[in-house]
Amino acid sequence: MAEVRAEARYVKHHKKKIAFLFSAMRHFAKDLWDEGIKVTYRRYTDPENKGSLFDEVKAAVADGDFDAVILTECGEYRLMSDMRDWSEKLDMPVHIRPDDRFIATHDEFAEWADGRKQYRMEFFYREMRKKTGLLMTEEGDPEGGEWNYDKENRKPPKDSMNPPPQPSFAVDEITQEVLDLVAEEFDDHFGDLEPFNMAVTAKQAEAALTHFIDRCLPWFGDYQDAMVADQPFMYHSLISAYINAGLLDPLRTCERVAEAYKSGHAPLNAVEGFIRQIIGWREFVRGLYWYKMPDYADLNALNARRQLPEFYWTGETDMACLADAIGQTKKYAYAHHIQRLMVLGNFALLMGVKPDEINEWFLVVYADAYEWVELPNVHGMAIFADGGILGSKPYASSGKYIDRMSNYCGQCRYKVKEGTGEDACPFNYLYWDFLMRNEEDLKGNQRMAMIMSTLRKMKDEKKETIRDDAERFFRKIERSEDHWYARARS
Ligand SMILES: Cc1cc2nc3c(=O)[nH]c(=O)nc-3n(C[C@H](O)[C@H](O)[C@H](O)COP(=O)(O)OP(=O)(O)OC[C@H]3O[C@@H](n4cnc5c(N)ncnc54)[C@H](O)[C@@H]3O)c2cc1C
Ligand code: SF4
Repeated sequence: MAEVRAEARYVKHHKKKIAFLFSAMRHFAKDLWDEGIKVTYRRYTDPENKGSLFDEVKAAVADGDFDAVILTECGEYRLMSDMRDWSEKLDMPVHIRPDDRFIATHDEFAEWADGRKQYRMEFFYREMRKKTGLLMTEEGDPEGGEWNYDKENRKPPKDSMNPPPQPSFAVDEITQEVLDLVAEEFDDHFGDLEPFNMAVTAKQAEAALTHFIDRCLPWFGDYQDAMVADQPFMYHSLISAYINAGLLDPLRTCERVAEAYKSGHAPLNAVEGFIRQIIGWREFVRGLYWYKMPDYADLNALNARRQLPEFYWTGETDMACLADAIGQTKKYAYAHHIQRLMVLGNFALLMGVKPDEINEWFLVVYADAYEWVELPNVHGMAIFADGGILGSKPYASSGKYIDRMSNYCGQCRYKVKEGTGEDACPFNYLYWDFLMRNEEDLKGNQRMAMIMSTLRKMKDEKKETIRDDAERFFRKIERSEDHWYARARS
């Protein structure tokens, strides 16, 4: 196992993400040693650290008497392409084994996807329900008679809600060493390193899951889409970083959640909603990533060209929703799905931020981010750069959605009820500006028919005002640019 520069620094990952991964790796290596399994572990600052996975493997192979190299497939196309050449470069057989921490294999996904004009999560999800038997009756029907209870899972926040604090795990000696290392070596990376309270072992991750099932799951469905200022976690599970790093098994996680339904602890809308996120969305985006790469990453269906605003790195903006979501992202390397999609992603979509810039931002800032999951979610779901491969329409929305699903607008300098003018919520005029800019590309989309017809009926004068407001807003953002990230990267 090796903590290598090439992986830790190819983008400026959030400090917490690096600390989490290095600590989890060191704990895992120690457990293996304790079980009597010999592990060669290369620390980041070891003088003999070769800096890349290939060079570490090459050195290990040169040092010993080996017949072959056996790898588990990795999570990013970039590295996978590199690994495919290893056999030639090492002059030795290299076997790349499937990652069995997923429910669907690449072949299964390809078999499902081949010949389809559109790929929709819902239909793939049903296959995964049948494959796993999760929430299926003995007769082979979906539990409760429906496959999907999403319509019950869109409640706005309520004052009486009382989400529990996130589970917190003490920093031990191994984690402290890693925290010192990250503070020293990755000071120029995004985000707050401390306080650090993430799970770093499989046992702790299991405890985090238990906390979720006991204290959040019953309300997970109802308030899945709700956002509350200073309540970053709501009733979410906070386990994505643990599942993606292999500390939790996705199938076992879903089985535990399904048991909570069977025992009457949690309602069906919550349990089905949670299981759909894992065996539906998570498997679907992963399947699509490997099915569509490498061309997928280059798509820019809406010809988006603007720079990512500097405030995505600082949180310094008057827009309360963005300031809160970015502030907590900096602090926790976490934001929940609706903040990522309907605030951070939606704003980048409306502005027309270059896909590369917003994709890199999402890859940097979250502890759970790897390209196989980040790219389809951002490129496909949030900014529609894939032109509809993943979703049937852009998730574009004005301030109205954020107002309905959060308490942000009441605390904002902008007025969500105003459509244009200095004080109007920028999401409002940017929304219409987005539709005008992309009218040609979107007018044929059946699911956009109603809104595009409203746009067509809009008076020219109003359209002009909207365009002017949007231009003024873009100029203001450009003036305040400082581009910390560009400087940090150079
Ligand atoms: C723009 C954007 C970027 C995203 N980037 C990432 C990313 O880099 N890494 C990542 O793991 N997830 C990503 N997601 C998906 C999702 O937002 C996170 O998995 C979720 O917020 C993690 O928090 P949680 O564990 O509390 O999730 P919960 O809300 O409790 O959901 C349970 C689990 O379902 C899975 N899940 C839910 N939605 C998705 C989804 N759309 N795709 C894949 N898995 C899902 C996760 O494993 C998650 O832990 C992104 C979503 C969007 C809209
Ligand atoms: S008014 Fe607009 S910018 Fe302000 S919090 Fe609401 S949606 Fe966000």
